[in-house]
Amino acid sequence: MGESGSIFRNKVTGVALNTMKEVFRDRDYTRVSLMKTLLETEGIPVIMRNELLATSGITEIPIPEFFPNLCVFNDEDYSTAWSIIDTHLKKESDSLKAPSIRCSSCKEENPGNFEFCWNCESDLASDS
Ligand SMILES: [Zn+2]
Repeated sequence: MGESGSIFRNKVTGVALNTMKEVFRDRDYTRVSLMKTLLETEGIPVIMRNELLATSGITEIPIPEFFPNLCVFNDEDYSTAWSIIDTHLKKESDSLKAPSIRCSSCKEENPGNFEFCWNCESDLASDS
């Protein structure tokens, strides 16, 4: 069977931070914090690691080991937590991929999810 199952054996000894399953990691503290809120709203207890490092500004150094990350408190929540995050990330990338809108006033390109022109602040939705 190999060694792949060994990390799960620690489960019987109780919850320890280093055996918890990580579901999300990002250099951007606000993003990790957003995911934490999202999961907690869904009733999934999570723990943020490296939070103090993140808020102290040390993540200006791009070392992934120091990035804030989220772990599920209960292993059985892992797949649910992951699907919530996955759904959110897909929504996020869909909005980034939204076709751009050209402002009718100043002809500047705007991302598809913008309501107002970044350049002249015209209402993009009123374009007809
Ligand atoms: Zn404009």
